[in-house]
Amino acid sequence: METARPAYQKFAVAVRASAIDGQGAFAAEAIPQRLKIGEIRGESISVAEARIRATRSERIMIVELSDRRAIDFSKSADPMRYTNHSCRPNARLCIRQGRVEFYALRAIPEGEEITVDYGETHHEGRLACRCGAPGCRGAL
Ligand SMILES: [Zn+2]
Repeated sequence: METARPAYQKFAVAVRASAIDGQGAFAAEAIPQRLKIGEIRGESISVAEARIRATRSERIMIVELSDRRAIDFSKSADPMRYTNHSCRPNARLCIRQGRVEFYALRAIPEGEEITVDYGETHHEGRLACRCGAPGCRGAL
């Protein structure tokens, strides 16, 4: 059963177990190249608060928007918050007006996991990457 989704979630996305890590966000319908998939909205907090929360939580769901502001998605119901990292992603992040938006880099068929390149993280290379993509960097 598909539940009602907010207007900013443009395409249907299902959350289920991922071979990459924990749960992932999967395309529940075909997504054309370049189109916006959806976004995550969360709690706006300071970067100082984000750093404190990151040390307390094993699974980090925080994105830093600037030197001062961050968003914590831990309490968000948006399925895009489960988007995993891949070294060869099919989508990209775009941070705009305090929101994290996701756009398709290429056509994504129904059933494929949506992935983005996290870029720099606070894991500082200590977290093994299991994306399985050719040319995987091996760590986050
Ligand atoms: Zn990788």
